Amino acid sequence: MASDLLPPSEVGRLASSFGPGSLATGTMRDSGAYRARTLFQGRESPLSPNKIVKTDAEWRAQLTDLEFAVLREAGTERPWTGELIDEKRDGVFRCRACGAQLFESGTKFDSHCGWPSFYDADPDSVVLLEDRSHGMVRTEVRCANCDSHLGHVFPDAPQTPTGDRYCINSVSLTFDEVGEDA
Ligand SMILES: [Zn+2]
Repeated sequence: MASDLLPPSEVGRLASSFGPGSLATGTMRDSGAYRARTLFQGRESPLSPNKIVKTDAEWRAQLTDLEFAVLREAGTERPWTGELIDEKRDGVFRCRACGAQLFESGTKFDSHCGWPSFYDADPDSVVLLEDRSHGMVRTEVRCANCDSHLGHVFPDAPQTPTGDRYCINSVSLTFDEVGEDA
């Protein structure tokens, strides 16, 4: 089973226990927050022509239990369990479900929150959605290509060029080192 999955009851406690920005009180910056793309109000992002659409059965056949729980059911891996937290090599991070390039190593930084963190995403690679689960207002990050859940983005990283922290599950990503054939 997916024993590395964070129980929903712990999501709120952990999410609000670190970082200078209180995630639960909706302290979004007035301007410049998430240079990204589009913040869709609601759960469904618009389908794009290139979007990969599979049934749950097809995803289950392709993914492990933990990968499915996070990528397709918006679960959260336990902090400090992910294999990519301390990945420091030059390369690119791809969606584990569809292989789309999402983040580059140059935007990865040490946030000490227990999950891989980036200050920006590749252009048009992710979509952002309002997430009101667990009694909080957060911004969910999904892969623009296959609609899989990646993590959340918080405007609480003033030490970075954007001020944003894309807090992404390791299990949602794969890493390709530069120069390595994919
Ligand atoms: Zn994807």
